[in-house]
Amino acid sequence: MRDNEVRMYACGPTVYDYGHIGNFRTFVAVDLLQRFLRQSGYKVQYVMNITDVDDKIIRNSARDGVTVQQFTAKYEKAFIEDAALINIEQPKLARATEHIPQMADFVAKLVEKGIAYRTDDGSFYFRIATFPRYGQLSKKDFKGMLDGARVDVDEYDKDSARDFALWKGPKPGEASWQTSIGPGRPGWHLECSVMSMQELGESFDLHAGGEDLVFPHHENEIAQSESLTEKPFAHFWFHARFLLVEGEKMSKSLGNFFTLRDLVLKGHKPSSLRYLLASVPYRNQLNFTFDGLKQAAVSVDRLRNFRLRLSAGNFPEGSTPAMQLLATETVAHMRAALDDDLNTAQAQGAIFEMVRQTNAAFDAGQVNKDDVAPLISALTKFDEIFAVIDDDDAPKIKRVVEWARAEGREKEVSKELLDFIQSAELSDADIEKKISAMKAARASRDFKTSDRLRAELFDSGVIVEITKDGIRWRRK
Ligand code: AMP
Ligand code: ZN
Repeated sequence: MRDNEVRMYACGPTVYDYGHIGNFRTFVAVDLLQRFLRQSGYKVQYVMNITDVDDKIIRNSARDGVTVQQFTAKYEKAFIEDAALINIEQPKLARATEHIPQMADFVAKLVEKGIAYRTDDGSFYFRIATFPRYGQLSKKDFKGMLDGARVDVDEYDKDSARDFALWKGPKPGEASWQTSIGPGRPGWHLECSVMSMQELGESFDLHAGGEDLVFPHHENEIAQSESLTEKPFAHFWFHARFLLVEGEKMSKSLGNFFTLRDLVLKGHKPSSLRYLLASVPYRNQLNFTFDGLKQAAVSVDRLRNFRLRLSAGNFPEGSTPAMQLLATETVAHMRAALDDDLNTAQAQGAIFEMVRQTNAAFDAGQVNKDDVAPLISALTKFDEIFAVIDDDDAPKIKRVVEWARAEGREKEVSKELLDFIQSAELSDADIEKKISAMKAARASRDFKTSDRLRAELFDSGVIVEITKDGIRWRRK
């Protein structure tokens, strides 16, 4: 590691359709990791690729009669919006089609070293027999593998080792680029090696993706990169276990295939989705269920109500040592849980234990004014990672509904959802209540709380102006 800096790379989406909850399970897991590393004091450089050329993209853009660029632009935009919908902080994005010359140069260097070879159709293959460590990451034993047997599709049989396509020669009707090694397009594995090393250096700290990428994708990335540089490629690998839906593999034919937008249109809040996707540690199987999603919504509401109770409540002067201790211990428990291979379930458990004990203390009149700040600070630490307490669900849901209307999918907008959006429009009395809480916070110089309330009002369509004569508000 360099100067307290973590350089990490995640395999991003192939932008040929809207991402599904399985994809976002993995992206949320990596988001939690990078947030936790930052909270732990590291400077994080986080890069994610956008695969904007591959077999499926070429096929689907031809089907829709648009160029590859038009096609991918739509789904790249959708990916960025969906990630923001569930508070995934945007990494630095690197597009495959913007690195084509570097990819061709990479292949040329492998040819020079006798590791890659060209076939008659202008494609280039990686000769895996030159890389004895092949199979080490996936713990597969490829002794006796067939030297020279080839495969040119991006994903292939999970148990056999084949020379894989680094570069695919041009085919009629397919996107292709003129390069130093001739015309054609990059293979998927090559894209990630080139972009990760260009952005983060030949050796970097961590490489992430879903568990399906271990073999062959990541195995191939290691083989290409380490053959070229003769240095270790990534020091750590982070693979999120695949998500199931109601105990089954997600698939369109089973009717259990969901994008984030599908679920929002069914009436689920973005914060419930994020909470649920974050609730199972990345190494464990997450079984996505509608019961679980409802439970997640209840959990998020409890946290939000708890914070409101703390920030808007009137407590007697002074402090209670037990409360101070509870806040400190909660922060320590959360840290220990996340330090333990990112045990998100335990970290959530720790915050709920604090909520439970504090609620009991509220009822017993044992919470004092000076206890509020440490308890809020523990919540803030939690939310720096989980990012569900600040409530901006309503405006986000509104945007999804607008999108559905633009796409001619208004029929899918449930009545429940329209009601929710309407009820989320605050009444004057609700607004006045929040303004009073803002005034109280400002009077005790708690500007953080005041700013948060102001942001919440803004998200609900209310603009708050603070003037020397007091606080004024108007609807947007
Ligand atoms: P793709 O867009 O298919 O290239 O996938 C983007 C990311 O989502 C990759 O890291 C995949 O490993 C991951 N992924 C795909 N399906 C699932 C799933 N069911 N559960 C978790 N991660 C997944
Ligand atoms: Zn990749």
